[in-house]
Amino acid sequence: MNLFDVYSLFDVTPVKAQGCRVWDDKGQEYLDLYGGHAVISVGHSHPDYVKALTDQLGKIGFYSNSVKSPLQEQLAEKLGKASGYEDYTLFLDNSGAESNENAAKLASFHTGKDRIIAFHKSFHGRTSGAVALTDNPNIVSPFNSHHKVTFCDLNDAEGVEKELKKGDVAGVIIEGIQGCGGINLPTAEFLQALESLCKKYGSVLILDEVQSGYGRTGKFFAHQWAGIKPGIITMGKGIANGFPCGGILISPEFKAVKGMLGTTFGGNYLAMAAALAVLDIMEKENLVENAHEVGEYIKANIPASPKIKEVRGCGLMLGIEFNEEVAPIRKALLFDKHIFTGVAGKNMVRLLAPLCLTKQQADVFINALKELL
Ligand code: PLP
Repeated sequence: MNLFDVYSLFDVTPVKAQGCRVWDDKGQEYLDLYGGHAVISVGHSHPDYVKALTDQLGKIGFYSNSVKSPLQEQLAEKLGKASGYEDYTLFLDNSGAESNENAAKLASFHTGKDRIIAFHKSFHGRTSGAVALTDNPNIVSPFNSHHKVTFCDLNDAEGVEKELKKGDVAGVIIEGIQGCGGINLPTAEFLQALESLCKKYGSVLILDEVQSGYGRTGKFFAHQWAGIKPGIITMGKGIANGFPCGGILISPEFKAVKGMLGTTFGGNYLAMAAALAVLDIMEKENLVENAHEVGEYIKANIPASPKIKEVRGCGLMLGIEFNEEVAPIRKALLFDKHIFTGVAGKNMVRLLAPLCLTKQQADVFINALKELL
């Protein structure tokens, strides 16, 4: 049987990885500045992470969600402290798309309304519910004209208010920083306006922190740069360092009613062991601060070139926008310089490195880019 061939893959087979480094089956070493779609937060094969997972496997296997889970409770407590959201509650699921669908459902339950506002160039996932919230020409979807979703322009508070005034909007969903859409940042003023407009018109502000969350931007969540508190925060990707895990943080205004949400695998023992290890390591190694420092260092040292239009982003969520298509330079970075990078659209190299990236490793990338330019 063949694999259903729906996304592009580089012809590299990794067999070993450590920190920000990866080795292929021919012994070639690579620097990983992408972390397999932003899932590597504390670095590959961190010894504490590997130990937590293997210890957990030895204790209790995969029995899941019909009994109390002390590990889920431990995670809720630790995450509340680490994020500054101790008064919120946690619902655990398996992926970013599922988190966004759960958030949209909850917003609708909570408000009794059924329209969602999302933003142009957004990406919220690939399931039919999440892709309906997505506006991205590279994402093929039969649901882009879903009639209950309205797309507004990022940073246009007036446009959002015009829609909210109609009175049927359950929630406004926005990425902390747009990732797949090309590292587009909502301004702090815009996020603050969304927070107060949602309060004024009885809608829920949903912050999708699936890609921008857990330290990547130099704050625990990207929206914390704007000093706001959303109704729901959605999470996924790096929260268990590559082990499938998602979740949502829910403001105390929401009343939990049995049957609203459910899951088979959400919060399973291995995901919890992985997620707890991630929070421990992030704290012990000051990875949020490191992401900020090394990200600023990269931004300040990307070589000036007529080929580069702009460098933008925050912490280790960075986009280098070129005046030309980046496929050739990404290929040269991977096969000549042995550096993994990501992409957004055709003209942007997107960096989503593990949060433990060092300045020395950043220099390897900066020098490689200089040579290729
Ligand atoms: N939301 C954002 C902002 C994302 O970047 C992604 C994935 O790239 C998702 C949601 C979907 O996450 P998942 O692929 O885990 O469903």
